[in-house]
Amino acid sequence: MSQPDVPQPVSPRSHSRQEENYAGDLYGKLWKLANNLWWSWHPECGQLFRDIDPIRWRQLDHNPVALLREMTPEQLSDRATELVLHSRINYAYRRLQEYLSNTHTWAANHAGVLGAKPVAYFSAEFGIHESVPIYSGGLGVLSGDHVKSASGLGVPLIGVGLYYSHGYFRQYLADDGLQGEEYLETQVSHLPMKPAVDGAGCPISVSIETRNGELLAKVWQMDVGRVKLYLLDCNVEGNRPEDRELTSRLYGGDQRTRIRQELVLGVGGVKALHALGIDPGVYHLNEGHSAFGPLQVINYRMKEDGMSFTDAHREAARMTCFTTHTPVPAGHDRFPADLVEEHLGPLRDSLGLSEKDFLALGRVNADDLSELFCMTVIGFNMSRYSNAVSNLHGVVSRRMWAHNWPDRDEDDVPIGHITNGVHVPSWLAGQMMQLYDKYFPADWKQRIQDPDVWQFIHQVEPGELWETHNALKHNLLSFVRRRVSRQCRRRGESDEVVEAARRLLDPRVLTIGFGRRFATYKRANLLFSDIDRIASLIENADQPVQLIYAGKAHPKDEPGKRFIQEVANLRHDPRFSGHVAFIEDYDINVCRHLIQGVDVWLNNPRRPLEASGTSGQKVVLNGGLNCSILDGWWGEAYNGINGFSIGHGRSHVDDDVTDERDAEALYETLEQKVIPCFYQRDADGLPQAWIDRMMNSISTLAWRFSSQRMVADYTSHAYLWAAGGVTCDMRPR
Ligand SMILES: *Cc1c(COP(=O)(O)O)cnc(C)c1O
Repeated sequence: MSQPDVPQPVSPRSHSRQEENYAGDLYGKLWKLANNLWWSWHPECGQLFRDIDPIRWRQLDHNPVALLREMTPEQLSDRATELVLHSRINYAYRRLQEYLSNTHTWAANHAGVLGAKPVAYFSAEFGIHESVPIYSGGLGVLSGDHVKSASGLGVPLIGVGLYYSHGYFRQYLADDGLQGEEYLETQVSHLPMKPAVDGAGCPISVSIETRNGELLAKVWQMDVGRVKLYLLDCNVEGNRPEDRELTSRLYGGDQRTRIRQELVLGVGGVKALHALGIDPGVYHLNEGHSAFGPLQVINYRMKEDGMSFTDAHREAARMTCFTTHTPVPAGHDRFPADLVEEHLGPLRDSLGLSEKDFLALGRVNADDLSELFCMTVIGFNMSRYSNAVSNLHGVVSRRMWAHNWPDRDEDDVPIGHITNGVHVPSWLAGQMMQLYDKYFPADWKQRIQDPDVWQFIHQVEPGELWETHNALKHNLLSFVRRRVSRQCRRRGESDEVVEAARRLLDPRVLTIGFGRRFATYKRANLLFSDIDRIASLIENADQPVQLIYAGKAHPKDEPGKRFIQEVANLRHDPRFSGHVAFIEDYDINVCRHLIQGVDVWLNNPRRPLEASGTSGQKVVLNGGLNCSILDGWWGEAYNGINGFSIGHGRSHVDDDVTDERDAEALYETLEQKVIPCFYQRDADGLPQAWIDRMMNSISTLAWRFSSQRMVADYTSHAYLWAAGGVTCDMRPR
């Protein structure tokens, strides 16, 4: 509003009140946008928050709640006027409202029977956005993507998890490349969550009896589009001091911490839903952490419906789906009998089971009293539908757990598979989305799991796709330079070193990315098995390559930390310096930058230990190519022309032999296929064969490895069946 030149007889009071209302409205709309994580998969909303204060936005980990908390409505109004944001705010707000009220969803047509009895989806971590640090890695991001897609498809689903005030650790590397760990407290007031309340508006809390006292938890509510996420938090008055810390760290502490966290998640989670008046029709246990939950469901059935344990168990199992994620026996949670009795004893009494019968629920062999209580085994026993997360992982899981079903053939072990996928709007770069908007059918975002949609990638001008990819690659390189120079500054390195970091990497050079947990089976250092051979590829004058690495090692994983050190210290080797970058503190933000900008995403786990992997699926959406061992999702995705395979999907019983062969295969693939293909240019300077692969990758993989397809599969193959609506085939597809 322009100021009149001549003072008008407007009373200052009414003027300021008018402005207050106006500002309040604007502020109110932004506040509502910030408090539904829907904004996080709508790039135009992120852009809007960013524009309000780009520097603070970055400093605050892209957290709009924290950003708005720093401003008064008046300041915001001034900024909005200055930047002409009003129509953008109104538009975003209107779209959120339309989204929330839309009833014409996929589920309305395909999953109506779920109706008023929602799916309760339990997970120990949820990775929704970097500003909500209650995840550590793949499992959490998968849960986040699951919830977002359930929202998009309109599947009635409720998430249940834990609130970790200190989340997972932040990583920084010391001068010698050794990983340091720091747990930072998140301010609750900076998160888009509020206390969950019951019908009368009273905050919910739950209490869980153990043999040595009560454990209390309060419950937070977070909105993710149409989905509500309930997070239990033990930091409440009434808990003993050590219990107030129980949920402060994700995967921190010892076995005792772990079983207590899992008790809160499973049993506490079911109690929280009960207190909220929510009566789920389906329980989905994402990994074994929450597998105590169905015991509480059984308990309610016995108390409220007068059922016997056996009948209630059958009922609860019919409603429960269990997803296992771990292909190594040692990776499954196991607890000694005394810890189980200490924590589940009172519930066991209530269920009327002897200690031996109760422990049998978590044992493969009920009579083996020395067998530890396994969360995966109780997961199987508490659910009628179980699944692995890729085709190969299904085969491995059926073999691994065959002894749990001694009267069945391995092929008939009732563990199917639904391959993981990723939430396309969350991982797709804005520029790429614009390209798809231009060439794809107008309703493509509602039909992400539809293969026909993605065929339109072949209509895109090759040069336009290539340019878009290169713009994204530029973004990545600026990000890497910014982060690496900041890392150098923090370590107190010389100005020259900091300056050199600003010139790191070259946008014309083939860029290979590797970002994931530094668990040893992922073999982050495989590429460096023959250091001279990789050095010669990097130093090659005509067809060079450069590398970007990122990833955390679990605080107790010493070999993983040595891998990080090995990679990080390459910067001191003149053959590698300037051509290799290690980005500290891998999280959703770092991952997003990497997967949107790399030419090639390298994945070389020791087969078959990668249950699925999802980061490579994110790369596909943005036009990067996967170069991977035929493990996890890539084992069923690779068709010969939609990326590159390392080896032929075989492994040797001796790990050293496997590693040696895979390293050789990796070098050969790079030298003979990847590098020549990237540098082969036509008269216009375009790598036609490479672009063909990009298009083939997008058209054959994007829909199949989307979490929209994944949640649609869970709905059709598991949820509807568990809800009693339809029968379906549990066999692996
Ligand atoms: C997608 C993602 C992962 C999972 O990647 P993998 O391929 O399973 O290693 C892990 N961490 C973060 C932060 C992610 O965004």
